[in-house]
Amino acid sequence: MTEKSAASSGSNEAVHVVWLTAGLGCDGDTIAMTGATLPSIEELVGGSVPGVPRVVLHNPVLAYENGDAFVQSMRDAAEGKLDPFILVVEGSVPNEKNKSEGYWAAVGTDSATGQPILTTAWIDRLAPKAWAVLAAGTCATYGGIHAMEGNPTGCMGLPDYLGWTWTSKSGLPVVCLPGCPVQPDNFMETLTYLLTQLVGQAPPIPLDAALRPRWLFSATVHEGCDRGGYYEQADFAADYSSSRCLVKVGCWGPVVQCNVPKRGWMDGIGGCANVGGVCIGCTMPGFPDKFMCFMDEPPGAKMSTTAVLTYGRTVRALRQFTVESMNREPSWRGPGGRT
Ligand code: SF4
Ligand code: SF4
Repeated sequence: MTEKSAASSGSNEAVHVVWLTAGLGCDGDTIAMTGATLPSIEELVGGSVPGVPRVVLHNPVLAYENGDAFVQSMRDAAEGKLDPFILVVEGSVPNEKNKSEGYWAAVGTDSATGQPILTTAWIDRLAPKAWAVLAAGTCATYGGIHAMEGNPTGCMGLPDYLGWTWTSKSGLPVVCLPGCPVQPDNFMETLTYLLTQLVGQAPPIPLDAALRPRWLFSATVHEGCDRGGYYEQADFAADYSSSRCLVKVGCWGPVVQCNVPKRGWMDGIGGCANVGGVCIGCTMPGFPDKFMCFMDEPPGAKMSTTAVLTYGRTVRALRQFTVESMNREPSWRGPGGRT
């Protein structure tokens, strides 16, 4: 099926999603996706989302096939037999040129040589053929934990590997969905958007400078946090058992773009700071190096909380006075009535 035929045939034709999990990672983004509800995997592969093509999913963690039988779908995609397909990459991309022998990551075996096929070779074969390329999770987008300074693999995110100005067959750069793991509905919503764009029913996906979907990553954690009211009133937690604002015990929420506090981790449940975990900035290209040491008060927070203290304490005291007043009925109620 060509892009044109998919677009002209509406949503009935299937689109293949080829998911490469052979980067350096933990498969956590695939596992997270099983908790998606907007839509769910079942809804996409069942073709029950109106206006959205049915998906044929090729993911090694979720597939019935294994070994060569699974790898065949990747070979087919590389040979143009699954056109159009969307490539999803999970895990960071190692630098295979930084050593004299061996390899860091591979999947499948070359039948001619008997040698493992490097993950980077699969990316080189598949990315140019893909209608769109989606990097799922912080490892695939910006390198993540594995890309910390000093890691011998020299690994990196997909935009660093392919190039930040690289574009797929549809003219899109790598679409980045960071998160450790990716928030499942962020992933499925973006995949659904791309599928809708593929059939000509949506404009090009709007991305920010870090190649993240704008509507998902514009707001900061702080702007969506349940504890924001405590911050405004300078009511800061001194330990992790408190329900107050966690900025003094290591929360980076005011400067991190992520919608998890609003959306929750899964189907509206959880969400880092909402449930007692400080935000460590896992959706940001500078993660983790620029956010360490975790659990220490961020340097900028010292200054900003000092500025908030005078205002916050005054407002909190005035509000407490008002709360007490509002907790009393008006004087004219009761048997005596207005005097
Ligand atoms: S816990 Fe973090 S994100 Fe929430 S209000 Fe405090 S600083 Fe902001
Ligand atoms: S709130 Fe912070 S730590 Fe939690 S998922 Fe978002 S960026 Fe990561």
